[in-house]
Amino acid sequence: MSLRDVVNPHIRGLRPYEPCKPIEEVERELGISGSVKLASNENPLGPSPRALEVLAASAEEIHRYPDGACFALRARLAEHLSVDPAQLVFGCGGDEVLELLAKTFLAPGDRVVMPWPSFAMYPIVAKGMGAEPVFVPLTAEMDHDLPGIAAAASEGAKMIFLCNPNNPTGTSFGAEALDRFMAEIPDDVVVVLDEAYFEYVRRSDFPDTPSLIAKRPATLALRTFSKIYGLAGLRVGYGISSPELIGYLDRARHPFNVNRLAEAAALAALGDDEHAQRTREMNASGIEYLTPELEALGYRVWPSDANFILVETGPGYADALLRRGVIVRPLGGFGLDNHIRVSVGTSEENEKLIKSLQAIEQQGPIASGAPS
Ligand SMILES: *Cc1c(COP(=O)(O)O)cnc(C)c1O
Repeated sequence: MSLRDVVNPHIRGLRPYEPCKPIEEVERELGISGSVKLASNENPLGPSPRALEVLAASAEEIHRYPDGACFALRARLAEHLSVDPAQLVFGCGGDEVLELLAKTFLAPGDRVVMPWPSFAMYPIVAKGMGAEPVFVPLTAEMDHDLPGIAAAASEGAKMIFLCNPNNPTGTSFGAEALDRFMAEIPDDVVVVLDEAYFEYVRRSDFPDTPSLIAKRPATLALRTFSKIYGLAGLRVGYGISSPELIGYLDRARHPFNVNRLAEAAALAALGDDEHAQRTREMNASGIEYLTPELEALGYRVWPSDANFILVETGPGYADALLRRGVIVRPLGGFGLDNHIRVSVGTSEENEKLIKSLQAIEQQGPIASGAPS
């Protein structure tokens, strides 16, 4: 017997997540400096100053375990969202809430239906439990194929992931489309609505998921402090659902999964409307600047309700940009070889992106077949 024979077969079949190299290492390898990172949909303004203030004070208390119930954050967030405190579960990032869902509901052989391309964690958490991801391709407009997802789920599904707005495309769907979809889905299928970019959404008919949860208890909305609140490095995300579903997740949860600093910073960030508003405005003006500039370069740009944009450039652009000190996300792993995902940056960062692309175009065509 070797380890290979005893490891769970569905774990052996996974490929470890490939993290991006640290900026410093990329710069050292390429002999460049001053690069900008537009690859992970982080807040280019940084964290809320109020979060930074409370971090210093909380740091003196880190010899104490955190509050395992996230009491203060739970109360404040419940008020902010107009839901009951028992409707919230917190995680070490939204990613942990996805894992808790998988651990709580999935068993080997279960079918989990998801759009594709979408967030890479969905198949990972499903496969991690031995469940089977069922991928439903996006439409030609890069939208969720909601009727297609409902049809796939009608063949038996334990869980459905929807990502609204979708990462990595930025596209979103409205309340009416979601209502039509939900009417097709049996009440015992767990529907996860990933709304990591909720605070950036600009469309006015975006679904009101808390009211949907009140009508359909097996629904969970996922949100995070990593994006608009600028706390990606601290790891805190949350789910909103029915008290019953939250109760099951709580049974599977580690008692101290949100650390003391993360809770304090999230609480402070939540109270900083001004920072969130500034971030939203900067993001909207960034999209307004980038879209026509990218189109003028001859690329197709998808409309985005998030803090990133999907751009069809042709192959090899992520690499070419990297050599000029602009880090964007290549999407070859999603079957989108000709596309990049660009996080909206500060105006200087956005200008650097456009100038770099102009220089790349002036240089002539990128050798085809170059890795993107
Ligand atoms: C960023 C993101 C999350 C959660 O990120 P955390 O940092 O783990 O909170 C979840 N879903 C999508 C689609 C995301 O882009």
